[in-house]
Amino acid sequence: MITPRVRRNIMRRLARKFDMRIVFDKTLEKDTEAACSVEDREITLNPKVLTKHVSKGRFISAILHEAAHQFCYDTGVFKVFHSPRALEDMTIKELKTYIATAWRAERFVEVTARRWMEVMFPGITYWDVYGSRGSGSVWVRTVYTAEARQVLRRKQLRAIDKEKRNERENG
Ligand SMILES: [Zn+2]
Repeated sequence: MITPRVRRNIMRRLARKFDMRIVFDKTLEKDTEAACSVEDREITLNPKVLTKHVSKGRFISAILHEAAHQFCYDTGVFKVFHSPRALEDMTIKELKTYIATAWRAERFVEVTARRWMEVMFPGITYWDVYGSRGSGSVWVRTVYTAEARQVLRRKQLRAIDKEKRNERENG
């Protein structure tokens, strides 16, 4: 249980600390707890998931996790994974990198966020976003990267088609 006032104070404190905007957004999909728009330096929180019934630790963890994604973008860590470009606009090579690094990038984010929790909120336990999804590794490698895999497959097929067409025209 977390009161609106406590939530507001946490959001204000962390927004100042990370130089970001932190807002609730009820248009987020129901399985998305929170999201980060790195170009806007904005964290959006899903009020349907992060209700007043979640623990303070979980609420703070969700924000710190997204702030760690911003940190990666700012410092160029796991650069392709943190690119603000749409998956559609990525090259085949970039999509492969995105998929191959997703799990490591999310682990890095979790370690970073956990460290911030220890320093900023001693005594509050970090809520491991992916640990809570059973085997997080499997989830990230399948569900989380499913869209990227689809886009990659489509682009690969398109590339093969193009190659065939070229062969026909030039051969
Ligand atoms: Zn994440």
